[in-house]
Amino acid sequence: MSDSAGDRRGGRPCPVCETPLYRRHCKYVCPHHGVVYDCSDPF
Ligand SMILES: [Zn+2]
Repeated sequence: MSDSAGDRRGGRPCPVCETPLYRRHCKYVCPHHGVVYDCSDPF
């Protein structure tokens, strides 16, 4: 997984479908897959 691939504005892509995730509180949510990361996951 590449952490410094250019998404520095909080727009991490979904690892499954590469749709830009949106942030909800401390979670990253894919519109297709639901919560992909949350604040308990190490980045
Ligand atoms: Zn997805």
